[in-house]
Amino acid sequence: MRPSIARVALPVPLDKQFDYVVPPHLFPIIGGRVSVPFGRQTLVGIVTALVNESDFPREQLKPIKAVLDTQPMWPDPLFGLLQWCSQFYQHPLGDTLANAMPTLLRKGKEANFAALREWRLTEIGRNQLMVGFDKRAVQQARLMYRLENEPVSHQTLVEEEFSSATLKAVEKKGWIEMQERQPKIKAWPKHIEADVDKPKLNQEQAVAIASVNSQPGFGCYLLQGVTGSGKTEVYLNMIKPVLDKGRQALVLVPEIGLTPQTINRFKRRFNVPVSVIHSGLNDTERLNAWLSARDKAAGIVIGTRSALLTPFADLGIIIVDEEHDASYKQQDSLRYHARDVAVMRAAKENIPIILGSATPALETLHNALTGKYHHLQLTQRAGLSTPTTNHVLDVKGLYLESGLSAPLIAQMRRHLQAGNQVLLFLNRRGFSPALMCHECGWIADCQRCDAYYTYHQNSHEMRCHHCGSQRPVIHQCQSCGSTHLVTVGVGTEQLENQLAELFPEYKTIRIDRDSTRRKGSLESALTAIRNGEYKILIGTQMLAKGHHFPDVTMVALLDVDGSLYSSDFRAAERFAQLFTQVAGRAGRASKPGEVYLQTHHPEHALLQALLTKDYNHFAQSALAERKLAMLPPYTFLTLLRAEANNSQQVEDFLRQVRHTLESNPIFDDTCLVLGPTPAPLAKRAGKFRWQLLIQTQTRSMMQKWLISARPAINMLPIANKIRWTLDIEPQDLS
Ligand code: ADP
Ligand code: ZN
Ligand code: ZN
Repeated sequence: MRPSIARVALPVPLDKQFDYVVPPHLFPIIGGRVSVPFGRQTLVGIVTALVNESDFPREQLKPIKAVLDTQPMWPDPLFGLLQWCSQFYQHPLGDTLANAMPTLLRKGKEANFAALREWRLTEIGRNQLMVGFDKRAVQQARLMYRLENEPVSHQTLVEEEFSSATLKAVEKKGWIEMQERQPKIKAWPKHIEADVDKPKLNQEQAVAIASVNSQPGFGCYLLQGVTGSGKTEVYLNMIKPVLDKGRQALVLVPEIGLTPQTINRFKRRFNVPVSVIHSGLNDTERLNAWLSARDKAAGIVIGTRSALLTPFADLGIIIVDEEHDASYKQQDSLRYHARDVAVMRAAKENIPIILGSATPALETLHNALTGKYHHLQLTQRAGLSTPTTNHVLDVKGLYLESGLSAPLIAQMRRHLQAGNQVLLFLNRRGFSPALMCHECGWIADCQRCDAYYTYHQNSHEMRCHHCGSQRPVIHQCQSCGSTHLVTVGVGTEQLENQLAELFPEYKTIRIDRDSTRRKGSLESALTAIRNGEYKILIGTQMLAKGHHFPDVTMVALLDVDGSLYSSDFRAAERFAQLFTQVAGRAGRASKPGEVYLQTHHPEHALLQALLTKDYNHFAQSALAERKLAMLPPYTFLTLLRAEANNSQQVEDFLRQVRHTLESNPIFDDTCLVLGPTPAPLAKRAGKFRWQLLIQTQTRSMMQKWLISARPAINMLPIANKIRWTLDIEPQDLS
């Protein structure tokens, strides 16, 4: 007899699944979507089981409305992995599965390629591109150059703030036309590798490639190679035999690393379709990219974190580039770490996985040093670059002009006069991190958070970087009424102004989240930098990742003291990675690079280790410290955060949670609960925040303990007044 009840995981924040009656004319499948009534709404969910029994009386069950798929959303291993994720990260299954689907599928759309409406240049348009454009028609020219290399979808252009008036005007001139493109599944060509110049591999590269290519099945490899050592070349050589066998490759990159340059290296090398998945895609593009992996229309999929959960017809290898990057950890909803889940996925699919980095995460390095991962090393720079020289500038007692010391300004002048580019790092956007009354010391603070407003001069606003609230700049102290308000501290906006004054003859560009909000603007900025249009580059850590600027010969870190004395135990590791990555951005053989560090603590052990030795040295001493302090990777942490309008209530709740955890039968002397303590940001968006830190000596212990204690936590009488979340293996403790 056919099962009469379908168990469905729905995208609701409840830790359970729901039973529905299967009407005789419908044929749901496990892992496929159905639409079902839920309260007054209709929701799309995934069938997780077909059964004959329910805990509820059958007459209370509602029938399924429609069956949306005839094949499962995910192949078995991936469906299994998603269920594992839900368990491991303690996140409801329905929401976990919804997370792994493109928006259109979540909304119930058919799982088939959707037509793309694109604009492309006409022949007349191409000719006009040679001739050039009227100086006044700035937008029209911008549009034409945007379409120069490839057609662009209508939705993307709209998102990039091309107006329909511009599109219409240019269409009327006959320069562009609209096309509807039905993405097609192309057969892969016989010759997978394109006819391009390939560098002759050095010995370390050859060894790394051979180690992976000679071992079939699962294996996890850390490819540790200094910046510029030719890691990408190694990836390409590992992907080739996979494609030759007709299998597919998945390449994960950090959020900011996904530039046209990266994508082009893969596209140029292989004659197989390459799909790109990142947060900037529109819904149709995202669905098509997802389908191209599932239906094997793509040989290579390159994407950021979320691409990991894409189904593949025949996945043969996973590469995680810059595996130490913090953007691999999702900070809300399903708080998964894409690198860690990628390793699980590779194991489940029985394929190799390569974690590449110049500055591996301490967790990863630990796994390599203990033999759990294979350790492949590239110690020499490939090609033509040379290492940089590092300098510390002791700024104690020096006058800082918007954060710049006189010796630093002098060095900048020297590099600029030689015709080179200079890159300045300052990890604080806005004009200044606070606005203060000069008479009484009052500081403008966000009413909803335990934080000061950042002053943004360009937009004439004060913004809270924690809750996003903003208000017009005040001109009077709210405590004493004085109109003498002064800025405290330096942000990138202020630095930009100061540099325009100090170096009026050199063009400056600022790269941070404010200046690159518009889609495509980061890419065009990076191109302009590479073309030498700008001589001084100011950036937050956005600029430290994955970009190489050969004409930059000087890099300066303006304010590093915060990372040396942070309460987050990962701050030192983050700083060491930033420093090493940044140092790797600069210079080539003909133009060696210099790195300058402004600090009040030149003697700090961490700085000394980095400056006089290297990342590996730092990492080894940091690992020794972590071991002594019983911190990851030697123990496992979970951060339980709770918030509510009433501070006392949150604290009480966490006391009860702690008691619940400690009286659980699984609890033993290898388990530890710390807290409750106020969160580092004790109030955010009007809510008071407290936290517990939960520690175990093994992963499996953490799992067992949390799963066992959760029901009791949920039953605590005040639990429903409190918003609480679990962050398993948190990356950010702030
Ligand atoms: P990484 O990813 O490690 O920073 P890349 O793969 O980008 O390094 O390589 C840096 C540069 O060196 C690239 O221009 C690349 O083409 C070149 N390169 C890589 N391997 C070799 C090699 N064996 N011989 C010469 N040049 C190489
Ligand atoms: Zn706020
Ligand atoms: Zn005042």
